[in-house]
Amino acid sequence: MTVMPFVLSPSNHFPFPGQVAVIGASSAGLFAAALLAQEGLSVRVYEASPDLDPLPRTLIVTSRLPEVLGFLPAEAVLNQVQHIELFSSGASVRLSLRKPDLIVERERVIRLLAERARQAGAEIVCGQRFIGFDALPADAPRSPLRLRFVDGAGDHPRQEQADVVIGADGVHSQVAQAVRVQPSSVALLQAQVVLPPGADPHTVRVWFMPGDTRFFYWLIPQSGQRAVVGLIADDVAQARDRLARFLNAHGLEPLQVQAGAVAVRRFSSRPWATVGGRRVYLVGDAAGQVKMTTVGGLVTGLRGARVAAAAVLGHSGWRSEQRELQRELDLHLLLRLILDRFRDADYDQLLGLLNRRTQDVLATRSRDELARAFWSLPFAQPHLLLLAARVLLRQLRPG
Ligand SMILES: Cc1cc2nc3c(=O)[nH]c(=O)nc-3n(C[C@H](O)[C@H](O)[C@H](O)COP(=O)(O)OP(=O)(O)OC[C@H]3O[C@@H](n4cnc5c(N)ncnc54)[C@H](O)[C@@H]3O)c2cc1C
Repeated sequence: MTVMPFVLSPSNHFPFPGQVAVIGASSAGLFAAALLAQEGLSVRVYEASPDLDPLPRTLIVTSRLPEVLGFLPAEAVLNQVQHIELFSSGASVRLSLRKPDLIVERERVIRLLAERARQAGAEIVCGQRFIGFDALPADAPRSPLRLRFVDGAGDHPRQEQADVVIGADGVHSQVAQAVRVQPSSVALLQAQVVLPPGADPHTVRVWFMPGDTRFFYWLIPQSGQRAVVGLIADDVAQARDRLARFLNAHGLEPLQVQAGAVAVRRFSSRPWATVGGRRVYLVGDAAGQVKMTTVGGLVTGLRGARVAAAAVLGHSGWRSEQRELQRELDLHLLLRLILDRFRDADYDQLLGLLNRRTQDVLATRSRDELARAFWSLPFAQPHLLLLAARVLLRQLRPG
């Protein structure tokens, strides 16, 4: 595995901005803060929660995680997954991965990144909720941005200044709203359960049940004893109802529940804006940097943080990195628009079309490399294009 260096070398000709404010101390924000602070920039991270105590959340990520981070977050890795079993109402297929997926505990990833950001010199200030930008004085339009904060109770308004702002404040981002980007979201709900008898601790199971959800259900093994079972749905009430039914049908008891909203991406959404002549970047869920096929946002949010840090540092390659990330995310969104129209019979056909050559492509290219796999898939199985065309045409036909 190629591991990119953690270091982003700054451009020799770039005048460093004075103060960088990162809004949101989670994975994307802390990673951007660490990258910038280690290059000598003065970075302050503002977090709305009273302390850095994220709730536990089990995530599955591709083998690209260590490559994007520049290191393997070993303390956060709970398990590795070698196979993915896909089920539809009338078909199933087992895919093997050349590089295993990682099951990570997000809380530990955040703690690790906070430690790295602090060691690099970034300051993390908790209990400060960003609520908007204050107007700049008319006689000094290019003066630093003025950021308005309140504490956890919504009291004690306070103003801070920064030359560059990175909005990493998640799915309901106030920074995005301040630059007129209106976020939207879907609900993710998963329950920790005892690993069912006969389930392999290194195989993820995915069920496509379009009558229940336009996304899917999953069983992700955390260890030889525990797993999380969950689904993505359009709203929390729907997610709760469907998950309860699914657990019941599989005879599973929820031990602990993890829930939250994840950002929905729009095509080619630009993750930066200019306010008072200063740049405001958006990263992670705040920028909709989420793969809409699987609604996974950890790795792509970290890639977004890397791009924003490179842009702040005046790194010449940041635009091409940004275009690459945008292309990847737009392809996932395109596939999601097709999958959203799938019925049971379409999933049966899809799984039936995953021949050996298609499986080889999927084994070699992870979900974070869709752009590289995209054109190989129709060559490996031309009927995939026909299936997509049929599903889309059905939509256009009346009745
Ligand atoms: C149940 C569940 C399961 C998931 N499973 C997966 C998975 O398997 N794989 C995967 O890749 N992704 C998964 N995701 C998605 C993934 O967790 C997110 O995409 C990712 O964590 C987003 O990180 P982030 O840093 O952009 O934002 P967040 O982690 O949402 O962090 C935003 C931070 O900003 C702070 N904040 C918010 N508003 C303000 C404000 N106004 N001022 C200051 N601070 C503020 C918040 O307190 C928080 O600390 C899952 C999500 C959920 C809910």
